[in-house]
Amino acid sequence: MIFETAPAKINLTLDTLYKREDGYHEVEMIMTTVDLNDRLTLEKRTDKKIVLKVENRYVPNDHRNLAYKAAKLMIDKYDIKTGVTITLDKKIPIAAGLAGGSSDAAATFRGMNRLYDLNLSLETLSEHAAEIGSDISFCIFKDTALCTGRGEKLEHLPKPPACWVILAKPDISVSTQEVYQSLDLSVPHATIQTATCKQAIIDGDYTAMINALGNRLETVTIEMHPIIQTLKETMLKAGADNAMMSGSGPTVFGLASKERQAKSVVNALKGCCKEVYMVRMLG
Ligand code: ATP
Repeated sequence: MIFETAPAKINLTLDTLYKREDGYHEVEMIMTTVDLNDRLTLEKRTDKKIVLKVENRYVPNDHRNLAYKAAKLMIDKYDIKTGVTITLDKKIPIAAGLAGGSSDAAATFRGMNRLYDLNLSLETLSEHAAEIGSDISFCIFKDTALCTGRGEKLEHLPKPPACWVILAKPDISVSTQEVYQSLDLSVPHATIQTATCKQAIIDGDYTAMINALGNRLETVTIEMHPIIQTLKETMLKAGADNAMMSGSGPTVFGLASKERQAKSVVNALKGCCKEVYMVRMLG
């Protein structure tokens, strides 16, 4: 039996450059991992089935699940003769902008690699990952990276300066597709400082890093769900060093260098958000 953890990600920056001919947006974003994990176990079967066990009514347990897709791809590509049972314990909020599904798929790629002694490099797994989803390649490495293309081209970065991350997931669901469809690239917007943020991470400069956070999709999702703005303001007022929406939302994250500060942010959120997590940045 193989055990894998699948950490959530947050976007320190997210910029959309232009719409490509294939319909995807060309993106430029810095993503990092945080210590909020789904847990997976993988076991070989004697028959050829892929069986996914997950106790969450919002998560499909069939071919629609990204972990299932990852297992299927590995079985087909490497001509594996037996199936696998994947048990998925969800802790990452669903459809939250935290790449939970992508991270589960990445953990399945790593797990299948070990379960079947394939000895593939993470780079190879990352290439396979790009065949089923844009963020999965990043999730393979559980690190920090500047991601371009659809998100699958990676430039690995050092671990960001250590800090606390407060995650607030409002009780609304956001469709990533809908957010991208509502994005009007001709509307003037604040510059997203990806290069500055990258340099801050390389320099280990926490202050420069928090000042360079930015997300091009934030105004789009806030227009649909003003609660996101409220959560940001609540975090900042309670002493977070900075706060921003992750991915296409709706999760808002706040960063804090001190534990005491992070706790007061958590306390301040109590009245307005049920799902709040205080975790460490992993990177
Ligand atoms: P991203 O940040 O990459 O946009 P997300 O965190 O917003 O991802 P997910 O939690 O990955 O979104 O789930 C989005 C949808 O994908 C869910 O509504 C669900 O139907 C489907 N899905 C497929 N596989 C999974 C999985 N392993 N865990 C959760 N949802 C999954």
